[in-house]
Amino acid sequence: MRCWVGGEEAEGMCQFCGRAVCKKHTRTRPFLFVVWQDENQERGLAVEDALWCGVCKVHPEPIDTNFLLSRHDKK
Ligand SMILES: [Zn+2]
Ligand SMILES: [Zn+2]
Repeated sequence: MRCWVGGEEAEGMCQFCGRAVCKKHTRTRPFLFVVWQDENQERGLAVEDALWCGVCKVHPEPIDTNFLLSRHDKK
């Protein structure tokens, strides 16, 4: 695997999009991987410094995932 940004030997993979990146081009950002409703509060599990390629666009806030579920209903 080669780094997506510079073409060097990649040492990791972006948690968000799966692109391979080397250490030099690796960035980190919080990665939210589970969200659930607890009473009236949204709770989530997140990694604070998940590996990020810096190329892909990550939504700063959790987005409404209903569009994933409603895809089948529209037909
Ligand atoms: Zn690189
Ligand atoms: Zn990425």
